[in-house]
Amino acid sequence: MVNLTTRIKKSKAMIRLVRPIEVNASNLIYPIFIREDEKTFGIPSIRGQNYLSLDGAVDACHKAVELGIPAVMIFGILKEKNEDGSIALHNDFHTRVFRRLKKEIGEDLVLISNICLCEYTTQEFCVYSENGKVLNEKTAEMLAKIAVIHAKAGADVVAPSAMCDGQVRHMRRALDDAGLEDVPVMSYFKTDTCLFQPFFEAITLSDAPRVGVDSSKFRADIINAKMFMQKVDLDVSEGADMVIVKPALTNLDLILKVKQKYPALPIAAYQVSGEYAMINLLAEHAHVNQDAFLMETLSSIRRAGADMILSYNALEAADLLKKA
Ligand SMILES: [Zn+2]
Repeated sequence: MVNLTTRIKKSKAMIRLVRPIEVNASNLIYPIFIREDEKTFGIPSIRGQNYLSLDGAVDACHKAVELGIPAVMIFGILKEKNEDGSIALHNDFHTRVFRRLKKEIGEDLVLISNICLCEYTTQEFCVYSENGKVLNEKTAEMLAKIAVIHAKAGADVVAPSAMCDGQVRHMRRALDDAGLEDVPVMSYFKTDTCLFQPFFEAITLSDAPRVGVDSSKFRADIINAKMFMQKVDLDVSEGADMVIVKPALTNLDLILKVKQKYPALPIAAYQVSGEYAMINLLAEHAHVNQDAFLMETLSSIRRAGADMILSYNALEAADLLKKA
């Protein structure tokens, strides 16, 4: 007997026809690392990705546009950091980056700026803290100042990623006060995970251990969806225009929860450095087809409800989609 589910799987074309959603290049965001010292080499902890010079970043952006990718997430790596991260306010590297990319690429690509203290402080920690306590207001005020500088230089979207309370409120107010009412805030939501480790090694300037409060004090407990949603509710109430759930694969249910609670809110999921390693190294270690696994992960993230996916494999995925 032929039943309904068999009939709609009759051919590849039929399977495509009945898909409610797909993975398209237009869903992808490519994260890039740009170095102020212009040194370009493979990122040891994120094997397969390179540190870019500003010229290299221009080329990467053109490549993304060619492949139909509409956005990049920018991580700037300064030559130096300082103790309180105030270097963010007078170093002009990010300003040069956004001006140049905007000038060369124009409106073809959305430039998203990752805004976090770890890019600027010598301790390379995401939040300010004192005696084991997160200093939310101090952190959020600083993030807001950095966001205004980046937005003025040409960042289309600012993405606070410290997970401190009030980061959206401060950023929205500072942007509005600076006449940047049209710059959206894309707020990050992270569960406390070990999967960020390759990324942290990628943005680290020294081998010194990170000093600061335990990350469990500002990220959400992985098993506690209520805690995660509480933070989403807070940031949405403060005016977050878009959200990023991070990591993706371990938080598929949380992506769905956010989608169900806020159906009109654009949701991104970040396939983080640890997930990237999982995809790329599994092929080496277990004969898994790397391209197929990559597309499976992206499909499952889309199915969970993500409109956008940040992936270090964005170029490879867009290329595969083009050939499909
Ligand atoms: Zn950070």
